[in-house]
Amino acid sequence: NLSDWIYCLTRTDPNAPKKQVGISVILADLSTPGITVRRIDLISGYSPFCETFFDNVRVPAANLVGKENEGWTIAKAILGHERSSIGRSIARQPGSAQREVVARARKHLGAGEGAIPDPLLRDEIATLGMLEEAFHLTLARIQQSAESGTPGPEGSITKIVGTELKQMRFELGMKVAGIQGLGWEGPGFDEDDLQYTRDWLRSRASTIEGGSSEIQKNIVSKRVLGLPEGKK
Ligand SMILES: Cc1cc2nc3c(=O)[nH]c(=O)nc-3n(C[C@H](O)[C@H](O)[C@H](O)COP(=O)(O)OP(=O)(O)OC[C@H]3O[C@@H](n4cnc5c(N)ncnc54)[C@H](O)[C@@H]3O)c2cc1C
Repeated sequence: NLSDWIYCLTRTDPNAPKKQVGISVILADLSTPGITVRRIDLISGYSPFCETFFDNVRVPAANLVGKENEGWTIAKAILGHERSSIGRSIARQPGSAQREVVARARKHLGAGEGAIPDPLLRDEIATLGMLEEAFHLTLARIQQSAESGTPGPEGSITKIVGTELKQMRFELGMKVAGIQGLGWEGPGFDEDDLQYTRDWLRSRASTIEGGSSEIQKNIVSKRVLGLPEGKK
């Protein structure tokens, strides 16, 4: 509900031989008659997007982006960027997820400086740290081998691993907070803990948005590993 414009992937050739063909990218001014935007409130308390309805909307043909019926190529580039950026959102700085969970363990479990006393928790935090490090190295490798600025199917690898790591980080961060992790709003919880709970809830959507993990795995098996397509 903050945007002025929207891009639409529209079916422009209903008789196209493949479902990916016959789609065009068209821009629409959101004040065009027939467009209704309704905000979606998320469980996390944010509302970063909306549901948008189109009733007999007409836009000028000049709003076409690229060639008619070839929008899927543009869509794949947009999705590649979206998937990489969702996956990379855990990777702000190497070691940041591990440091965050350690800081929460110190705050909520009363662990002072030095090693965290619970060996099982230490093990889980170390596992998170190692996976995070491996993820950063993989990101660096993908970055180096990218020949153009457009992420290819390897963006799907970034998305699967990055979003699963993100969920792992928040699950662990919630676990060490114990009952203080239950606050969504109201008294008894500081602002950091409330924010953490909302971010944990938001992280559940990361393996769905931009194409679910199962869809990313299909892309990786077909386009990265060259495996045959599964039965439909
Ligand atoms: C936070 C959030 C933000 C979003 N933002 C946008 C947005 O800005 N714009 C937009 O257009 N959409 C947006 N979406 C929608 C999002 O792209 C879809 O929810 C997502 O692609 C999954 O599609 P679906 O919900 O139709 O699930 P479905 O496709 O119905 O999938 C349901 C289940 O079946 C599985 N499945 C489906 N097909 C296969 C298959 N071929 N093989 C194996 N398993 C399969 C899925 O993995 C999933 O578990 C957003 C969603 C979320 C959660």
